[in-house]
Amino acid sequence: MPIKPQIKHIHHLPHFRERTEEIKYIIIHCSRSNPEKQLKNLHKLELSAHYIIGQNGEITEALEPKKVAYHAGISSWHGSQGKSLNGSSIGIELEAPDMGQSKKTYKPALRHSLCNLLIYLCYKYKVRPENILAHSDIAPQRKPDPGKGFPWKYLYQNGITPWYHLYCLHQETDEVKLLNIIGYNTEVLTAARYAFCRRWLPEEVKTERNIKYMLDNPYPKDFVPKDEKRYFKRLRAVAFAMEKCRTQTPWYLTKK
Ligand SMILES: [Zn+2]
Repeated sequence: MPIKPQIKHIHHLPHFRERTEEIKYIIIHCSRSNPEKQLKNLHKLELSAHYIIGQNGEITEALEPKKVAYHAGISSWHGSQGKSLNGSSIGIELEAPDMGQSKKTYKPALRHSLCNLLIYLCYKYKVRPENILAHSDIAPQRKPDPGKGFPWKYLYQNGITPWYHLYCLHQETDEVKLLNIIGYNTEVLTAARYAFCRRWLPEEVKTERNIKYMLDNPYPKDFVPKDEKRYFKRLRAVAFAMEKCRTQTPWYLTKK
């Protein structure tokens, strides 16, 4: 059994409801503020999350996972039913001063704590690797976090999330179908396309100096990938990887 990561602070937020659904997803967020300020902001906005990790790697528990936190908002993934993933998810907030736009914003101490926390939660609540998601994955029209600098590859290297292989491509070639296979809601195709790039092809995502603008406009309304061939190849590779991941038992859930 994975070791429980050290929870440095406990500060439970008052806005939550009782959980009636099973936990299926873990949603990763980021915010520019430090954990203390994030707690205040969430409280003020009548929102919540389960954990907040600061740049120094200290973990704050802001709500017990058995309660439902208000962090995902209107969201969906892989044809999920209902308007929000709040009821079936755990929300983790990270401190990222540039809203996750650069890799260096996610300091080694933070990445290390996040890794430990994810392994612990995935094991405890039987969350599958393909269901660890970015807020931008599940709300592509509204959210840019945790940004193109988020260390997905590091999580993969630590056995947590799936990764693609450019030699294994899905046989499907239709863009919308591929995005749907991965899990994206394609109601607004440009938004789904950009959210895909944010996570899987960050070279296509612009670094925005005006963070307020980015928060108000999470995707360029006229976005088309600069390198379309590379985009389609990546799309097919990720669709293949996600589909394969769904059929396998992750190492942390195999019976000894
Ligand atoms: Zn978020």
